[in-house]
Amino acid sequence: MSISKPKLRAVRGAQDWRPDSWQHRPAVQQPSYDDPAELAEALARLRTLPPLVTSWEVLGLKQLLAEAQEGRRFLLQGGDCAESFADCSSEVIANRLKVLLQMSLVLIHGLRMPVVRVGRFAGQYAKPRSADTETRDGVTLPSYRGDLINGPEFSAAARRADPQRLLEAHARSAMTMNFVRALGEGGFADLHHPEYWDLAWVEHSPLAAEYRRMVASIGDAVRFMETLAGEPIASFSRVEFFTSHEALLLHYEEAQTRRVPRQFGWFNLSTHFPWIGMRTADVDGAHVEYCRGIRNPVAVKVGPSMDAAQLQRLVETLNPENEPGRLTLIHRMGAGKIAEHLPRLLAAVQATGRRVLWCCDPMHGNTETAGNGYKTRRFANIRSELEQAFDIHAAAGTRLGGVHLELTGEDVTECMGGARGLGEDDLARAYKSSVDPRLNYEQALELAMLIVRKSGG
Ligand code: PEP
Ligand code: MN
Repeated sequence: MSISKPKLRAVRGAQDWRPDSWQHRPAVQQPSYDDPAELAEALARLRTLPPLVTSWEVLGLKQLLAEAQEGRRFLLQGGDCAESFADCSSEVIANRLKVLLQMSLVLIHGLRMPVVRVGRFAGQYAKPRSADTETRDGVTLPSYRGDLINGPEFSAAARRADPQRLLEAHARSAMTMNFVRALGEGGFADLHHPEYWDLAWVEHSPLAAEYRRMVASIGDAVRFMETLAGEPIASFSRVEFFTSHEALLLHYEEAQTRRVPRQFGWFNLSTHFPWIGMRTADVDGAHVEYCRGIRNPVAVKVGPSMDAAQLQRLVETLNPENEPGRLTLIHRMGAGKIAEHLPRLLAAVQATGRRVLWCCDPMHGNTETAGNGYKTRRFANIRSELEQAFDIHAAAGTRLGGVHLELTGEDVTECMGGARGLGEDDLARAYKSSVDPRLNYEQALELAMLIVRKSGG
């Protein structure tokens, strides 16, 4: 993963903070482990394992996010709602990268600016749940909390919180990371050969012609620039990917928090860019306490129930020194609520005088249950929330600098609508997610084209 040289800036470390100081705050959404000794042993083992990313990369990403804040880059953050151990396979990982690459190409071409690519992968294994337990046919078991914690099958054995999974998740994240790095450096990501990124079914897509036109025009630009330079330009042959996941299971995050020689402060080296979920964003809670002290860039999901004063405290707590690139706010309101709630929250942050990167997650406020019981999202609502977000930011004088999406490179039918007009009856055909519904390849690409149109590209 090659990155531009970070412009380091001395930042005072958080006061009264330690990697375990979160343990003195209320920690919601944590599993209960039935054998503390087994948990302690797994965590001790985890602490000895090498990190997945480096502090150098983390600070490099912070610099890129600072540039996105200033309007010079656009953030594309996407991937599965949750990774699963079973999907840690070459095909799933490569297809996910292909979608992100294609979307970024559409955005770079249309927005005329570089894109920061951040995957929800290599560690996105823990999920917040609305209930601690689940009851089926009179049997009550703990809820599935993601492969980092327990298994999705409805049995007592699978639903037990198993500390061995902490080590398994670390190993799978490392394997994912290793493959992502190799693909990013090698021919796979070569701008001279965007056909390497085509997924098998792209040729049947109603969007194929528009995408191909764009690719041809990028190919012309690449050849033109290399003709001017008189030689191949190395940066056209590789791409940077950064990783992110929800920093949810705090014992896991703590065990991967390291002090780096020669760089002042603590880093979470399990991911470049951890985020705090909507359900764990209490400013006095354990998750905010944990994230306060690490030097990574961090993001917070902001939902419609966030009040202005609470958001202002979050901004002050997580970025007391107004450090560029440090804080991203990901709003996820729902198409029917964004017009009511986003303007007051933008004004609240503006009133602090602090800079943040604003990013829109048009997925999580638009989840519904279809008539046939499937958890789904309508493309029209996702589109509407995103379009409203651009307009609301423009009216407020702020900038929407990124999007956060749940998507997959697999040909799934989990979200309804889009160019192919998927309906309720299509959901059963290829519904694979055990958590939230994801955009499939075509729907994701369509959304990228829409962002370009909305931004006047
Ligand atoms: C998620 O990103 O999968 C998620 C649970 O989001 P939120 O915290 O915004 O509900
Ligand atoms: Mn989700």
